[in-house]
Amino acid sequence: MSDLRELYQQVILDHNKNPRNFKELPAATSKVEGYNPLCGDHYTIYLQLDGDTIRDVGFTGNGCAISKSSASVMTSSVKGKTKEEADRLFDVFQKLVTGHAAGLDEAELGRLAAFSGVSEFPARVKCATLAWHTLRSALQGIGEKVSTE
Ligand code: ZN
Repeated sequence: MSDLRELYQQVILDHNKNPRNFKELPAATSKVEGYNPLCGDHYTIYLQLDGDTIRDVGFTGNGCAISKSSASVMTSSVKGKTKEEADRLFDVFQKLVTGHAAGLDEAELGRLAAFSGVSEFPARVKCATLAWHTLRSALQGIGEKVSTE
């Protein structure tokens, strides 16, 4: 278990240091700002939809290591997926970080599993889910700003 924890920590540190898809998308079909005032995490998610498929997704902004690495893993996980698949991944991720991981499909979780430790720190759940909430808002095309408060 401690080896697994170390591996998870490595994933988070790596994505924090070298965030994937950390860029604006000139061809974005929607752009939503997400803000978590409790921690100060502040990101903009850029989404390029092709019909129901997420053709590309990027993000910019700043925040703590959990929020930034989560945004990075989120963008890598949903690229190429349909809206429905992305929505389902968010549900799975939310269960994981709120401590309802029992019965979740590990294969489906993939890299998202690195955030399982967040469930032990309820104050960090908003950091971990900020990018996902922002993505959902962008997918639904509602609002240009999301706040966790
Ligand atoms: Zn944070």
